Amino acid sequence: MNATALSDLSADDLAVLLEEQRTAYEQLKTQGLKLDLTRGKPSAQQLDLADGLLRLPSTTKDSAGVDVRNYGGLEGLADLREMFAELLWVEPEQVVAGGSSSLTMMRDCLFYLTLFGGVDSERPWGREEKVRFVCPVPGYDRHFTLLESLGIEMVTVPMRDDGPDVDAVAALVADDPSFKGMWIVPTYANPSGSIVSQDVAARLAAMPTAAPDFKIFWDNAYALHHLTEDEAKSADILTLASAAGHPHRPIMFASTSKITFAGAGVAFLAASSANIAWYLGHLGNGSIGPDKVNHLRHVEFFGSPQGVRDHMARHREIIAPKFAEVDRVLTERLGGRGIATWNTPAGGYFVNLDVVPGTAARVVELAKAVGVALTPAGSSYPYKQDPDDTNIRLAPTMPPVDEVTAAMEVVATCVLLAAAEKAAEQASA
Ligand code: PMP
Repeated sequence: MNATALSDLSADDLAVLLEEQRTAYEQLKTQGLKLDLTRGKPSAQQLDLADGLLRLPSTTKDSAGVDVRNYGGLEGLADLREMFAELLWVEPEQVVAGGSSSLTMMRDCLFYLTLFGGVDSERPWGREEKVRFVCPVPGYDRHFTLLESLGIEMVTVPMRDDGPDVDAVAALVADDPSFKGMWIVPTYANPSGSIVSQDVAARLAAMPTAAPDFKIFWDNAYALHHLTEDEAKSADILTLASAAGHPHRPIMFASTSKITFAGAGVAFLAASSANIAWYLGHLGNGSIGPDKVNHLRHVEFFGSPQGVRDHMARHREIIAPKFAEVDRVLTERLGGRGIATWNTPAGGYFVNLDVVPGTAARVVELAKAVGVALTPAGSSYPYKQDPDDTNIRLAPTMPPVDEVTAAMEVVATCVLLAAAEKAAEQASA
C-alpha cells in the first residue's frame, strides 16, 4: 500500500522494478495456468440455487385457470408480470414477459423500429438517411455490436458515477434528428457499476430531442443484483418520461438470466401502453405465445417479489467475496503506484479497471500468454476502439474464489509490467 508511484521512481529504481516484474512474469509462465475472467456468467454454484425450477411447475394452470401448456397469452403469464412489475417499479399492464433473452427483445425492438418505425415515428428508421445512437462508454459490448449489425452509427459520451454525461447527451440530440436513441444500463452498469441518479434520469426523460421518436433503451439487466445490503433503487424512468410529456421515449428491459438460469430464465420488456401494443403487434406476426410453462415455474419457485429479493441475497453471499478479492489484490499490488484505477461496485457483474493509457491491450496480451483470459481490450467501446487503450473489464463471478485470486495476481503483475515497460520506453525516448 505504501508503494511509490512509478512517476516518482528514479531511472535506476524503475529499471529494478521492470526487472522484478519481468522475473515475476517469467515465473507465471511456468505455472501452466488456465483461468478465465472474460464473460459475466453466473457460476455453477449460483445456478444451483435455482435447481428447484427443474422440478416445477407442479400444476398446468395459473391462478386464473389458464392452461400454460397451450398457445396464447403473447404478453406473458399475468402472475409473473405482476411479480416483476413490483420489482421493476412499473404497472403490471406495462410489462411483457417473454422468452429467455432480453437482448433478443432489444434486437426485436430495433428491427421493428428500422422496418416499421415506432408509435411516434414519421417513417421507419430504415428510410432515414442516417440513424445514430448515443452510447455511454465504457458500455456493454453486445449493445454496440447489435447497433453495428444494423448500420446504426454510434457516438460516445462519458459514463459517470451517476450515469451518462447528460449535458453531452442533451447537446448531441437537441438539434440533430439523426440521433434516434441511446443505451443506458441504469443500475450497476456493465462495466462501470454506475447507478443513474434520479436527477440524471429526469433530465434524460425531459430533454428536448430533434427526433420526435427518440428512444431510451433502458437496459435494467442488474436491477436486483446488489453486492451490498444497501440496495439501490433504479430511477422510475417510465413515470419520469410520462410526466415530462415523452411517454413513449423509454423502453425498459430486464431478465432473470442472472437470477435463475442464464439459458432458461425469463426476459421482460416494460414501456408505455402504446409501446406495449406496438411491440406485441409486431411480435404477434411471428409468435402465438411465449413459454408459459417456464413463466409458471418461475412464479411457483419465487412465490412473491420478496422471494426474488431473498434469492438475490443468496447470490450476493456467493459472489460478493469474489469482488472483495478483486479489490484486495488490486489494492495490495497496485495501490499507491499511480498506474491504475478501478471501481468497487455495489452491484452487477463487473469491475472496471483503467490502466496506464496505451497499455490495456498489452496487459490483456501478457495475461493471455500465461493462461489468463481477459475480455479483449476495447470491448467496452463501439467498434471495439478504446481511444486511450486504457480500459479493461474484469468479470469475477464465474470462477471459484481461489481462481479469482490467482487470476488477479496475474492481472496485477501484467499491469505493473506493462506500466514499467511504458515508463522505461518513455524515459529512454
Ligand atoms: N444487458 C446487459 C447490460 C448485460 O450485461 C447482459 C448480459 N451480459 C444482457 C443484457 C443479456 O441479457 P439476457 O440474458 O436477458 O439476454
